[in-house]
Amino acid sequence: MGIKYSSKINKIRTFALSLVFVGFGVMYIGLFFKETMWLMSIFMILGMISVALSTVIYFWIGMLSTKTIQVVCPNCEKPTKILGRVDACMHCKEPLTLDKDLEGKEFDESYNSKRYQKNTENEI
Ligand SMILES: [Zn+2]
Repeated sequence: MGIKYSSKINKIRTFALSLVFVGFGVMYIGLFFKETMWLMSIFMILGMISVALSTVIYFWIGMLSTKTIQVVCPNCEKPTKILGRVDACMHCKEPLTLDKDLEGKEFDESYNSKRYQKNTENEI
């Protein structure tokens, strides 16, 4: 296989989860500075921002999930979600596309970019 791409939703979810841990970690570090009130406050605020941000990202994932298209992966035959023009299978990381024109082409995240979409529009 050797394909390193992972599903976008999985990537965002991993990022949000790590933000929670970072947030709690930062707040924990803040406890070491109990003597210095302002320093502790900074750590606490940073930690809270981090946790709040992850909540926002989780909410965003929820919104994105409604926009994804559910397909059955041709490789592992499990249902997966596609976000954008190209995405990878959540289970086996098989590159998938909704665009027939891109089928068989090398997997490239740039197919999702606005610039590429503009180019194809111009061709039509
Ligand atoms: Zn798959």
